[in-house]
Amino acid sequence: MQSETPLTIPADSRFLLATSRVPAELVLDPPAGAAQDREGAFLLDVLVDRGQVAGLFPAGAGPVDGSRIMLDGRHLWPALIDMHTHLDCGQSIPRVRSDGTIHGGFSQTAADWPLWTDADLSLRMEFGIACAHVHGVSAIRTHVDSETLSLSQRGYSVFEKLRHKWAGRVELQAVTIAAMEAWIGEEARELADLTVSRGGILGGVTDTLERGENGTYDTLDHALDRLFALAKERGLDIDLHVDQTNDLSAFTIPQIAAARLRADFQGRVVLGHCVNLSLQPPDVIEKTLVLAKQAELAFVSMPTPMMYLMDRKPGRTPRWRGVTAANEIRAAGLALAIGGDNCRDAWFPYGDHDMLDTLKQAIRIFQADEPLTGSLAMASRVPADLIGRPDLGRLGAGLPANLIIFSARSLNALICRDQADRIVLCKGRQVTDPLPLHHELERALGFSYRRS
Ligand SMILES: [Zn+2]
Repeated sequence: MQSETPLTIPADSRFLLATSRVPAELVLDPPAGAAQDREGAFLLDVLVDRGQVAGLFPAGAGPVDGSRIMLDGRHLWPALIDMHTHLDCGQSIPRVRSDGTIHGGFSQTAADWPLWTDADLSLRMEFGIACAHVHGVSAIRTHVDSETLSLSQRGYSVFEKLRHKWAGRVELQAVTIAAMEAWIGEEARELADLTVSRGGILGGVTDTLERGENGTYDTLDHALDRLFALAKERGLDIDLHVDQTNDLSAFTIPQIAAARLRADFQGRVVLGHCVNLSLQPPDVIEKTLVLAKQAELAFVSMPTPMMYLMDRKPGRTPRWRGVTAANEIRAAGLALAIGGDNCRDAWFPYGDHDMLDTLKQAIRIFQADEPLTGSLAMASRVPADLIGRPDLGRLGAGLPANLIIFSARSLNALICRDQADRIVLCKGRQVTDPLPLHHELERALGFSYRRS
C-alpha cells in the first residue's frame, strides 16, 4: 500500500479545489450538470478567491487559470457549527472531579465558581475555542453561568474580549443561563440588560424549578412569561436547557410551547436536551411534537455527554442512551441540531470541541444513518440557521471559504477514521495552529497533581 502525498495549500488568495466531493445537503445551489456519487455527494470544482467561495463548477469544469489543488475525490465540507457549549465551565479537570451525575456536575461547578477570575476564565475558555478552531468549527454558542449577577458579569466580560479577539475565525455567541427563578427575581431586568449589552440571548433551566405538592411546575408559567417578555422587549432569541432527566413528570416542553404562543414571541426559541421526551409513551411524543411545531420550537441535542450522564447507577450498566427522540423530531419536520456541550469539566470530563466527533457520536447513538446523508446538516446548516448565521455551515458561492478537506473519499471512510489529518481552511487560509496542549494549560492555571 502506498501512502498519499500530503496536500499543499498555496498561500495564494485565488485557487481551485479541483474534484472535491461535497455532500449534497452541505451545498448551496449546486451547479447544473454536477455528478453525484452513490452516497449523494456532488463532485465539484470549488473556486476560492480572497477568502470566499467564488464559484462552484461540475468537477473538471472549473477555471484553469491560477493555482489548482487536486483533491482527487476527497470530501470537502464547510466548517461545522457548535451551537451548545459551556466554555466557562470547561477545561477545569483535574481541579474539579466529575462523579458522572447531573447533581454532581452542578454542585462541583458551583463550588468552583469562586475560582473563576478573569485570568482563569480567559485561559480555560480560550483553550476550548482554540481546540474548536483547529478541528474546523467556525461558530460557537456558549452558555454563560449566571446564577448571580456578579458571576454573569465576570463571565460576560471575558466572553466579550474573546468574542472580539476571535471574530473572523470562530464567531462566538452567548446565552445567559440561570435557574428559571432568576427571571422572576429582583435581578431579572438587570440580567437581561447585561445580556443585551454583551450581544447575548436569554436562557434558563426549566425542569429544575421547584415544584408544587402535586408535582406540577406552579411557577414555571410565570417565569416563562417573564422570560418571553424580557426577551421580546429587547429583541432577543431564547435558548433553554430543558428536561435533562429521566423523570417523566419533569416534562416542560408543553408549557414552553404554550408560553411562546401566549407571548406571541417572534424570535427563535431553541430547546436543548429534552431527553425524557424519548421515554414518554408514543402518543405523548406525537402530541408534544405537534405542539412544538405549532409553537415553532427548535431542538438541540447533546448526545455525547447525555449518554454519559443519564441512567447512571453505581454497579449497573445503563439501559437507556439518554438522548431525546431525535428521529421523531426530525420526522415531524422540526429543526434538530447537535452540540458538543460540556468539555473536560464537572459535568463531562472528556471531549475536545471537535464537532466531527460529536456528529459521528450522534449518527451512531440516534441511529441516524441509512442514509448517512441528511444527518450531516445537524452539525452544519441547521445550527447555523438557528444561531442566525445562514452564511455559515454550508458551501456556496459568496460565502466565507471556511472549509475542511478530509482524506476520506466516502462518507463511510470519513465516519470510520478519526480524520486527524484533516486540513482546515479559515477564510481561504490554512489553519496551521497546533492543538493547544492540556499540560500547558494546567501549568498556566497552576493545577496541582499532588494527591490530596
Ligand atoms: Zn448545556
